[in-house]
Amino acid sequence: MLTVRFAPSPTGYLHIGNARTALWNYLVAKKAGGRFILRLDDTDIERSRAEYAEAIEEDLAWLGIEWNLLERQSARVARYADKLAALKAAGLVYPAYETPEELDRKRKRQQARGLPPVYDRASLKLTAEEKAALEAKGRRPHWRLKLSGTVVEWFDGARGPSHIDTSSLSDPVLVREDGTVLYTFASVVDDADMGVTDVIRGEDHVANTAVQIELFRALGAEPPRFAHHNLIVAASGEAMSKRTGALSIRSFRADGAEPLAVAAVAVLTGTSEPVHAIESLDELAGLVDLSKLSRALTKFDPAEIGHLTVRMLHSKPFSAVADHLAGLGITGPKAEPFWLAVRGNLTGLDEAALWWQVITGPLQSTPHTDAALLSTARSLLPPEPWDETTWGLWTKAVQAATGAKGRGLFLPLRLALTGQEHGPELKTLLPLIGHAEVSGRLS
Ligand code: GLU
Repeated sequence: MLTVRFAPSPTGYLHIGNARTALWNYLVAKKAGGRFILRLDDTDIERSRAEYAEAIEEDLAWLGIEWNLLERQSARVARYADKLAALKAAGLVYPAYETPEELDRKRKRQQARGLPPVYDRASLKLTAEEKAALEAKGRRPHWRLKLSGTVVEWFDGARGPSHIDTSSLSDPVLVREDGTVLYTFASVVDDADMGVTDVIRGEDHVANTAVQIELFRALGAEPPRFAHHNLIVAASGEAMSKRTGALSIRSFRADGAEPLAVAAVAVLTGTSEPVHAIESLDELAGLVDLSKLSRALTKFDPAEIGHLTVRMLHSKPFSAVADHLAGLGITGPKAEPFWLAVRGNLTGLDEAALWWQVITGPLQSTPHTDAALLSTARSLLPPEPWDETTWGLWTKAVQAATGAKGRGLFLPLRLALTGQEHGPELKTLLPLIGHAEVSGRLS
């Protein structure tokens, strides 16, 4: 079964770039009827926080993403130790004793000679006696994977045929002196154990892929398929940051954004599909294809989320907003026709409360209007029941009786009935306000 994972480190709030990765994974799994794993890469105990882990779950749920399984790397350290032991036994990793300062000096010397800063494998050449001597002095080794030094090729689901020459890379450190594991190692052990078939992530991880493929093989596992999507940046130049929360999912949420508007911008930017309003993640899943992604860094306008939010609001069915409206006190048999009458005029969902006040009264303001016209209009009000045809019949009668027409007729009536110069169509509002209240407002 196709299995993907989204693997954030809980070191800050998810930003729209993280949402892009999460959604691509989710949509690919959804389309294929596969599994989506949420994996918290929380081995960095200094920077990982429970509150960020909770926030990640909350933000993903808000976006409409559901996971089949939640895993935490912090709960799997014993497994990583087992796997390191297996790699040691197979002779596929080796202990290295250089301190960070020594490694830094090596790199500086290489740079001075115009050489790439690749680890020289000095520790691999140590004899058993030399290692014992170092350990006797209190040195603890870190463990490096011995790369093959060959060209690793893979077919990238987003970028096509790809390759990296591992002779240009340092043997990666898998486990530190203190026994803590590095991301690459924990990630590959997890992907293998959890049956991940497709690793979908940002192209900032392309460079890790060859090492990870060699590590899968060292662990005796079949490497998954890889796909690296292009990254997106805000046209304003504002940088995304998990740490500062810039362009975070929370900030869009706090601004009243529609989750599907965030999803549309996060996913469709940098694809051949224009960024547009969508009705569901299913619809979005049907629109996108990793192999059709642009390979270039693509700009997006965060304001587009606000525009899409408004557009989506205008076509929302009542069922989608009923709970929120109830929270604003909008309930009862009038709630649904009310929603259908006003939704096209809203720039935010909470504005519905203002229009509900207009319907139920009392009006906040009653601007001065044409008293004679209103009085005649009042006398011509037909009896209830009212429906959407009432307004047309009534205003025709008022026009015939007073000679007023066009703006001269409609504006005084609109002001008297709603207290506003603009708003939803009066033919829909009139039956909602009802005879008694309309009559009161006209006098
Ligand atoms: N924790 C890694 C990150 O957030 C996961 C990378 C991956 O998908 O392999 O960048």
